[in-house]
Amino acid sequence: MTTLLPDTRMLIDGSRVPLDSERIIAVTSPIDGSHLAEIADASGAQIHDAITAAERAFSKWRQVSGNERAKLLNRLADLIDRDSHELALLETTDNGKLLRETSTQARFAARNYRFFAGAADKLYGHTIPLDSWDTFDYTSKEPIGVAVLITAWNSPMQLLANKLAPALAAGCTVVIKPSEIAPLTTLRLADLIAEAGFPQGVVNIVTGGVEAGIALTTDARVGRISFTGSVPTGQAIARAAAGTLVPVTLELGGKSANIIFDDADLERAVPGAVAGIFAAGGQTCIAGSRLLVHDSVADIVTKRIAEIARNIVIGDPRADETQMGPVASSLQQERILAMVSKALDDGSHLLVGGGRPDDTSLPAGSYVQPTIFTEVDPESRLAQEEVFGPVLAVTRFSDEEQAVSIANSTEFGLASGIWTSDLSRAHRVARELVAGTVWVNTYRYSAAQAPFGGVKRSGYGRERGLEALDEYLRTKNVLIDLSNSVRDPFAIKA
Ligand code: NAD
Repeated sequence: MTTLLPDTRMLIDGSRVPLDSERIIAVTSPIDGSHLAEIADASGAQIHDAITAAERAFSKWRQVSGNERAKLLNRLADLIDRDSHELALLETTDNGKLLRETSTQARFAARNYRFFAGAADKLYGHTIPLDSWDTFDYTSKEPIGVAVLITAWNSPMQLLANKLAPALAAGCTVVIKPSEIAPLTTLRLADLIAEAGFPQGVVNIVTGGVEAGIALTTDARVGRISFTGSVPTGQAIARAAAGTLVPVTLELGGKSANIIFDDADLERAVPGAVAGIFAAGGQTCIAGSRLLVHDSVADIVTKRIAEIARNIVIGDPRADETQMGPVASSLQQERILAMVSKALDDGSHLLVGGGRPDDTSLPAGSYVQPTIFTEVDPESRLAQEEVFGPVLAVTRFSDEEQAVSIANSTEFGLASGIWTSDLSRAHRVARELVAGTVWVNTYRYSAAQAPFGGVKRSGYGRERGLEALDEYLRTKNVLIDLSNSVRDPFAIKA
């Protein structure tokens, strides 16, 4: 399988920007640690240029009809579908996720662009009847201007589609910054944006790390910052945006509870729990990293999950038989193993894994064993802190109230899962869980139509679904006095 490496130069105002050898970042593959490419570490001046280009393009783009924007978005979706295998292979090489996962994500990204293409010409306001007969009041939905879109490394194509599709549908122009750890599919998208026919400057792509991120998030010309990444970075961005009062969408981390009740169909719940934590090596914000199991089924559930975990095929994420690839970087590997040590110190019982795989035939990438801890204290660090790796914390509960209480006991609130055959319990518990997403008898199911986002430290704002458009639109109210009468200038009219 040959991975085609893209043009890694930044895209500003429709042109690729030559690399400056003094400001470059190396991109490596977590599969074997090999050097893949070099990208630019954008300077403050380049970030300024990118925002200027987006601002200039906005003055024309805002006048382009929703129908035209929809055509362009649909064309982009077609191009992503056409090149989906190439894109998936590139993303897998860049971040180590399984090829079958990145292939699904490429198709899902295309679906997102199509969904928002369908919405681009339906951005209606309202006419509003007021108390007085001789007034006419209406609202219009206007694009917020330049949107800055910053993404994490774990699912670059999908995370970007969650932001870029509604932003363009709404009529915004954008400056995108992918993670410096896995920037390649975003840079490849620059070619598809041009091929689809988007006007110059509507989509700008810059690369870099913290410095570039800070320059993007402290520029007062920006109308919205949409960020996906870690809690500390999200907090730094919210603080920076407080200075400019630019509104922010934050998609941050999670410590999601996957709850198996005693009446669950275990044939489905066990693979559901495995999908929650070992798919993508646990490197998903929605990982079901806390498994809460009712006392009466805890032994059998833990035994079955442990059997599956011990037999997970670890290896090259491009191979069909592989079930878990490497984690995204050696730094990430070290972080995960440090969390494992903390869990041992805190008295959790290590049932499976806990280290690097001992298979000497694996390439020199950053691999971690599927790991399961049982008897995890809900207050312990393993139960409270995001690991972002294949580490499952199992905790038992004795009744529904206790399950809900443990599920809600972290600072996060991104996703959750309920496994039960009792319809009333499913609704009852769904209502009590403090999380942006609740899955019942399924886990890790994403849909373009379904809004997604967090509460508490998992962030705020919504992506996907029609609600995502609201992040990129603002409401203008227009009130027209139809009366021709002369008013009292010294009292407010109401
Ligand atoms: P990160 O916060 O380290 O980096 C994310 C992005 O922010 C990168 O592009 C990075 O260059 C940029 N950045 C870094 N410092 C910045 C600053 N001061 N100002 C502006 N930008 C800055 O996160 P990561 O390690 O790439 O991603 C992992 C995290 O992302 C996990 O916590 C995970 O849960 C979260 N995540 C959340 C979602 C979601 O939708 N809720 C999805 C995927 C990942």
